[in-house]
Amino acid sequence: MTSMKKVVALGGDGIGPEVLDAACQVLEEARFGLELIRPLCGEAALDRGEDAFPGEARQACSTADAVLFGATGTTSGAILRYLRWELDNFVNVRPLKYYQGAKNCIRDPEGIDFVILRENSEGMYSFFGGDLSMLRERLPDLRSRTGRSLADYGEGKFALRIVSERGTRRLARFTCDFALERKARGFPGRIACPTKSNVIPATDPLFARIVEEETLSHPELSFQHFYADDMARRLLRFPREMDVIVAENMFGDILADEAAEIVGGLGMAPSACLGGRVPYFEPVHGSAPDIAGRGIANPTAMLLSAALMLRHLGMAAEADAVERAVARVYREGTSLTPDQDGSSTTAGMAGAVARAIT
Ligand code: NAD
Repeated sequence: MTSMKKVVALGGDGIGPEVLDAACQVLEEARFGLELIRPLCGEAALDRGEDAFPGEARQACSTADAVLFGATGTTSGAILRYLRWELDNFVNVRPLKYYQGAKNCIRDPEGIDFVILRENSEGMYSFFGGDLSMLRERLPDLRSRTGRSLADYGEGKFALRIVSERGTRRLARFTCDFALERKARGFPGRIACPTKSNVIPATDPLFARIVEEETLSHPELSFQHFYADDMARRLLRFPREMDVIVAENMFGDILADEAAEIVGGLGMAPSACLGGRVPYFEPVHGSAPDIAGRGIANPTAMLLSAALMLRHLGMAAEADAVERAVARVYREGTSLTPDQDGSSTTAGMAGAVARAIT
């Protein structure tokens, strides 16, 4: 007999706890047999005079099979730092799939089904940086190549964009395995790699080269390189040509928000953060302070993140059931939240999804 999977559910800030409640409601009503643990954290913990990420919550995560996370806003950055960097979840899998009935901003969204794999631990989000003066004595003068030297900028700040060989290689290998698995399900096996290798020569050619090398070691896969700005345009113009896109942290982050709009908006974009000691699953969206506390957040991104978690835990039938139920609720169109031009509440929509699970 397989043991019950232990899932720690952390709400975080703003609409995080609202959409997490919705997902937990669906998982519990569907009786999938998960052990759901919900430690206090984020704004709720601060309100009770505790730390935003209490030791008890951290300890529960460290021994979990998976973590479901709502969203971070102003208080729960420590949760994200732990889940992403300390647990070393280096890849953020962001599926973009159109569900019939979802509100969208392009004419013909039918059949859109691709995935952005965002590097999750380095790139422009390294947090290293400082005063420009720190660099002046240490870096070579590039005046002959660029027409200016660091001294010409005067006082200011810099941030480091880190592309490591090890970090990119492991991401590229993950990407190939991911694309091969999709190819076995009928997708084209096409890996697109957006960079700015033309204007960030110190890092981006390395990223593209490693992804290309790993891709070409699999004859079943193909590799395409695009400049990131061109990729942003292509997502809107040719979304059905996309299969697997792999990108540096910031480009992946921005392109995924853009891509979310062509399938129905941020309320519909789920993600899985994988590769580390304990995987975690969270919507692409943040804490949405503009709608927090009103009970109108769209729970779909969180529900589809829970489906990604079920699939990752080997519960494919349960994952399929959640995705089918979401698809049905969108097709019927009577229990959608205001971002989808409906009038349902978050809990109302979650109830409809729970009832649609067969
Ligand atoms: P956001 O994703 O919170 O919101 C952007 C817009 O999308 C808002 O208008 C919001 O109302 C809408 N939206 C988001 N989720 C929705 C949902 N489920 N249903 C309906 N509408 C939804 O981005 P922001 O406003 O730029 O950032 C707010 C906070 O969230 C910031 O503190 C930011 O740092 C944080 N953030 C966290 C994460 C994360 O936890 N991974 C991701 C992005 C932003």
